[in-house]
Amino acid sequence: MGDARVLRGIGVSPGVAFGPALIVRFDVPDVPNRAVPASEVEHEVTRLNEAVAVVVAALEGLRDRVLARAGVEESRIFDAQIMMVQDTVLLAELERLIRDNHLSAETAYEFKSLELRNLWAGSSNAILRDRLADLSAIQTRMLHHLLGKEEEDLWSSIGEPVIVVAHELSPGLTVQLDREHVAGLVSEEGTRTSHAAILAHSLGIPAVMGATGALKRISAGALVMIDGQSGAILVDPTLAEQDRIRAQISRRQRMEFELEAAIEQPSVTPDGRTIRLLGNVDLPEEIESAARHRADGVGLLRTEFLLVGRATLPTEQEQCDYFLRVASAFPGKPVVVRSFDLGGDKFPAAFRAPPEANPMLGWRSIRVCLDQPEMFRVQLRAVLRAGADKSIQLMLPLITRVDEVAATREILAEEAESLTKQGIRIAKNLPVGVMIETPAAVLVADHLAQVSSFFSIGSNDLVQYTLAVDRGNARLAHRFTPHHPAVLRQLASVLAAGTRAEIPVSVCGEMASDPLSAVLLIGLGYTRLSVAPPALALAKWVVRAVPYSVARAAAETAMTLTSAEEITACLRESVRDHFDLRLLDSESSLPGTAPKSNFS
Ligand code: PEP
Ligand code: MG
Repeated sequence: MGDARVLRGIGVSPGVAFGPALIVRFDVPDVPNRAVPASEVEHEVTRLNEAVAVVVAALEGLRDRVLARAGVEESRIFDAQIMMVQDTVLLAELERLIRDNHLSAETAYEFKSLELRNLWAGSSNAILRDRLADLSAIQTRMLHHLLGKEEEDLWSSIGEPVIVVAHELSPGLTVQLDREHVAGLVSEEGTRTSHAAILAHSLGIPAVMGATGALKRISAGALVMIDGQSGAILVDPTLAEQDRIRAQISRRQRMEFELEAAIEQPSVTPDGRTIRLLGNVDLPEEIESAARHRADGVGLLRTEFLLVGRATLPTEQEQCDYFLRVASAFPGKPVVVRSFDLGGDKFPAAFRAPPEANPMLGWRSIRVCLDQPEMFRVQLRAVLRAGADKSIQLMLPLITRVDEVAATREILAEEAESLTKQGIRIAKNLPVGVMIETPAAVLVADHLAQVSSFFSIGSNDLVQYTLAVDRGNARLAHRFTPHHPAVLRQLASVLAAGTRAEIPVSVCGEMASDPLSAVLLIGLGYTRLSVAPPALALAKWVVRAVPYSVARAAAETAMTLTSAEEITACLRESVRDHFDLRLLDSESSLPGTAPKSNFS
């Protein structure tokens, strides 16, 4: 039997929060069905257009506020709403409704919104369904204005920070929240990709969405705890539960403070070893975050987003512009562009691939690029051009054979010659590196080092192919660990091969983001780690907390152990004197919440 006080939703913005519930009902105002005499029809059209102008001005105000509080990408949410309000097709239909049926502006607006809502709610397109909250927000604003109603000021009467509980949260409401008044958010509707969820995340407000039945189960003023990571909600906690959660919240706050401080500190261990921390950038949105967290360059620029979800292949110019845009955000620092790593489930519409029985062992990644050189050549030309004035490097994924690197270098040389003949400036000496993500690459690392400018370990795939564990299979998550002795030995031998050949070796898989695994890597001798932007501060904090001598001793012991469990335990033991392990533990005090990390 589950605990009746526990509700489950989707954790969309991490953090644990605690406070009395404030039930917020954003009811779209009741609209009296009003017809107008023919003589007033034009007046209603004018009222409609005036309302649009007022609502657009209000949304512009919100957009500026988001720009200041969250960022450019987040502020675009309101650009989208402004476009929806000003949509010329919608306005023309509204005017027609008013004129043909002699409706008041508000009656016509309500009618049209209902029609759109029904259309979008029934759509199989998840993006459209996600945008329903934006539609409600606009509808409420327009109707409030047309009916001459004041919008409620929710926050003036609030004392202690509350947990806002609503059926659906609009981005407009979310951006008006601040952490002083609002400890957390719960909504019955919404998913991770809802605009309100994205904003809550950017503003650092813990939030759980998709919590069906929340309004029925949570009464106004009831004490509520939420875990924005696991999506757990606990109503009416006992005193002991409250104490536990308060201790956890204060530990997290201390941690947040320390992480913020770490961002501007040098990435050096207490005994003086410098560890370079670079950022992994998958999407353009992450460029800003990586730069803000002081990434020492981009250690992995994934390029698949340039293809996914499009009907046509990206042009050379488009790709070159993107690479230059990323490089400009990291002046003087390296940007490692990874060539298209298509395959598995990452085959875009523009690139039809036949279904395969074993996609992970199939026609993917460098194999596709070499078999379809027309597409590969375009990308290589873009990289060569972007490298003319910027520190761009090329990295090849899923390498298993030396001749794959040689073939790429050949194509690269041909394209370099053709560009030069056309008088186009290109990189003089483009470094070409190899991702080590298969046991085959590990075993021939000495040969690969002869044709590579650098190595970068893709631990996600290396673990998958070494342990024969599908990286995406939740049922096997406990088996998917880079602490397995087979992985450790490979990590040590690749670094040794790279060092012998005098080429740099880094790690860019998720492993580098996990604190205990980072200690292990540093202990093995790695000095370059590339991690997702949100993990940069934590990685720096770990570097600054654990002396290299301690990490090295832990790695030496780990190399003698026979199981992943023993290795994890050894790493935990070794850092115990250097930081409070509870700061890293993601298991929450809320009942029924699962730990997050696969590794530790
Ligand atoms: C990896 O495999 O570790 C890696 C960094 O590449 P991706 O996760 O994109 O496969
Ligand atoms: Mg990979």
